Amino acid sequence: MTGNESRVQAIYEITNKEPIEPKPSEKLEDIWASHVFSLSKMQAMLPKDIFKSLKKTIKTGEKLDPNVADAVAGAMRDWAMSMGAKFYAHVFYPLTGLTAEKHDGFISPQSDGGIISEFSGKLLIQGEPDGSSFPNGGIRDTFEARGYTGWDVTSPAYVLESELGATLCIPTVFVSWTGEALDKKTPLLRSIAVVDKAANRMLKLLGCTDVSPVNSSCGAEQEYFLVDMHFANARPDLLMGGRTLFGRAPAKGQQFDDHYFGAIPPRVQAFMHSVEEKLYKLGIPAKTSHNEVAPGQFEIAPVFESANVASDHQQQMMTTLRDTAKEHGFICLLHEKPFAGINGSGKHVNWSIGNSTQGNLLDPGDTPEENLQFLAFCGAVIRGVHLYGPLMRAVIATASNDHRLGANEAPPAIMSVYLGSQLEDIFNQIKEGSIKAASRKGIMNLGVDVLPPLARDAGDRNRTSPFAFTGNRFEFRAVGSSQSVSGPLVALNTMMADSLNWMSDQIEVKLSGGSDINIAVQAVLKDIMEKHGVAVFGGNGYSEEWHKEAVEQRGLKNIPTTADALPYLKDESIVKLFESTGVLSPTELHSRFEVYAEQYLLSIEVEAKLVSDMAKTLIYPAVMRYLSETAGTIANLSDIGLDMDKSQVEKIAGLAQKLFSEANELESAIAKHDFGSTEEHMQYCAGTIRGMMDSIRDAADALEGEVADDLWPLPTYEEMLFIK
Ligand code: ADP
Ligand code: MG
Repeated sequence: MTGNESRVQAIYEITNKEPIEPKPSEKLEDIWASHVFSLSKMQAMLPKDIFKSLKKTIKTGEKLDPNVADAVAGAMRDWAMSMGAKFYAHVFYPLTGLTAEKHDGFISPQSDGGIISEFSGKLLIQGEPDGSSFPNGGIRDTFEARGYTGWDVTSPAYVLESELGATLCIPTVFVSWTGEALDKKTPLLRSIAVVDKAANRMLKLLGCTDVSPVNSSCGAEQEYFLVDMHFANARPDLLMGGRTLFGRAPAKGQQFDDHYFGAIPPRVQAFMHSVEEKLYKLGIPAKTSHNEVAPGQFEIAPVFESANVASDHQQQMMTTLRDTAKEHGFICLLHEKPFAGINGSGKHVNWSIGNSTQGNLLDPGDTPEENLQFLAFCGAVIRGVHLYGPLMRAVIATASNDHRLGANEAPPAIMSVYLGSQLEDIFNQIKEGSIKAASRKGIMNLGVDVLPPLARDAGDRNRTSPFAFTGNRFEFRAVGSSQSVSGPLVALNTMMADSLNWMSDQIEVKLSGGSDINIAVQAVLKDIMEKHGVAVFGGNGYSEEWHKEAVEQRGLKNIPTTADALPYLKDESIVKLFESTGVLSPTELHSRFEVYAEQYLLSIEVEAKLVSDMAKTLIYPAVMRYLSETAGTIANLSDIGLDMDKSQVEKIAGLAQKLFSEANELESAIAKHDFGSTEEHMQYCAGTIRGMMDSIRDAADALEGEVADDLWPLPTYEEMLFIK
C-alpha cells in the first residue's frame, strides 16, 4: 500500500469493527486466585507436618528440606494437572527486565510405550535453563557458563492459560553455580532480608520486645497507552521501539481535558474487563481505571502486597496487558514516552516497611512511642535519599525514561524527598533542637507527646517530587512505566537498611553513655537533619529556581540522562553500600552496570537506525511524490501563463533535502565504534546521536504539516490517539 492507503484501510477496519461482546462476568469469589497454588490449597493437600515445615521456610527463608520439597512438588503437580496443565516452567527475571521461562513437560515416556507424569522436589527447587543468551555482564565468563533457577518459596506458583495450553509457572531466582545473582529477584530477596534485620535491631533499641519479621511492601500504579493494532502495523517505530519516532503534535492534544475521567470507549472497557478477570484468577488484586491525563492513556493499580510478590505480580501484569491488548486488536504501549508533546507514562512505586507486631513503620501512630518509632524510620529515609540519591536515579535510568524525567510533566532528574509541610516542619524543629508539641503544651522531647494527625492525601499535593511521603508510605514517582520494580525496591530497601544500621550504631553509643532513648533518637535525628536535611524539598520540582538551588546551594546532583546516571553504579559509596549489606557483591554490581549500559546503547542504536530507515524509505519518498506532483502542476500552470508562487515548493524541497542528508549522516554516525570506554560511548549516544535523531524528526514533523494528507504514509497522532 502506498501513501495513506494503509491509514484509510485502518480507519475503515476500526470504525467497522464489531465490538467484542464482554463475556458474562464470573463471580469474583469463584475466580479469585483460582489459578494460584496458594497456602490454603497447600494446606488442604499436604500432610500437616510437611505444610508446617514449608510455612516455616516461607517465613524464615530457611532451606527447604528435600523430603518436604518432594511432597510439595507432588501436590503441586496434581493440582496443576487438575487445572489442565501438561507443562511446567521455571519463571525467572533476567537483567533485561523482561520475564523468562524455561518450559518442561510433566510427562516422561517409558520403555513400554506408556508415559508417567514426573515432577520431583528436585525439579521443583532447581532447574538448569541454558540461559547463556541472557545478559550477565561478564559474570558467567568469569565463573561458569550455566545459570541455575531455584524456586522462591515466598512467591506462589500458578497456572497460566494461553492458546498453547495451560502451564504451571514456578517463580524462581536465577543464579550462577557459584551463587552470583544473574537476575532481578535474588537481590530483591536479599534486600528484603537486610532491611528486616536492620529494622528489627532498631525496633528492639526502641524498646519493642515482641518483634516479628519486617517485610517491605509495594503497590505499583502502572500507566499505559492503547493504540489500535491497525495503526501500529503501519508504524515500524511503534512495532519495534514502542514509541513514535516521528509525528506532528495533534491540533487537539491534552489541552482539552475531555479525556480525563471521560467515558471509556466500549472496546477499551471490554479490554479492561478481560485484563481484570485474568489478573483475578492469578490472585493479582488490580483495578483498571481511566483517570489519566493524556488521550488514549489509562492506569491499572494493584493493592499493595509484600515487595517480592508485588514485583512478580507486576511482571505478570505487564505481560497480561500486552497479551490481552492483542486479543482486543490493540497494542499496549508501556513505553515511558510513546508520543512527543503528550504526557508520558510512569509507574508510581508506593513503598513502606512493616510487620505484624508493630504494623506499618512509616505510619505515624497514636501514642508517643509510635511517633518516636515513625520519626526514626522517616529519618532513615531522609538520610538514604541524600546519601544515595544518585543510586535512586541510576535504578530508574533507561533510554526510554530519559524522555520523561525532567520533561516538565514528570519528576525532575534531581532526587529529593517531599514530606508534606507538617512533617517537614517537625523535622526542621528537630534540626533546631526542640520540637513544639502539637497541642499547646510547649516544648517537648520526642516521644513525650503525640504528633498532630498528618494529612493522608498529601500524595497529590505535590506531583513534582520524585519521591513523596503520602501519609503512611513513600511514593517513588520517577520510576518508568516499562520497568521492573525490583531495581527501585532493592535500592530503597538497601538504603533503608544502611541508614537504620548507622542510626542504631549511634543510638547504641549514646545509650551506653547513659542517655535516655528519646534523647538519643532526637540527637541522631538532629544530626541527620543537619547533614542530610538538604534532600528535603517541598516546593515546585519543575521550576528553574529549584534546579539552580538544588545544585548550587544544596549540592544535590542533577543527573539528566542514563549516560550520566549509570556510572554511579561504580561509585565507591554505592559499591560499599551493596557490599556491606551483602545485597550485591562488587562483581554483581559491576555486571549490572555493564548490562544496563549495553541495553542503553542498544536501544538508542536501534531507534537511530529506525529513524534513518523511516526517513529515507517512508517519509522522503512521500515528500518527493508530492513535490513532483506540485512542481509539475506549477510548471503546467506557468505554461498557460499563470505564474504561481514557488515558495511553498522551495520550502518543502529544502526540508526534504535536510531530512535526506541528515538521515545519511545519522547512518554513518551510528557506525562509529572506536570508543575509549563504555561511558564515552553512552555520552556519544545521549548527545550526538540523540541530537541528530531530534533534528531529523523536526524536519519530518514540519513536512507532515506541509505535504498532502493523502500521500502521508504514517498514521497521525490524531488518528492513533483518538480513533478507537
Ligand atoms: P493514589 O491513587 O492517590 O496515588 P491510592 O490510595 O490509590 O493512591 O494508592 C496507590 C497505591 O499505593 C496502591 O497500589 C495502594 O495499594 C498502595 N499503598 C497503600 N498503602 C500502602 C503501603 N502502606 N505500602 C505500600 N503501598 C501502599
Ligand atoms: Mg499515585
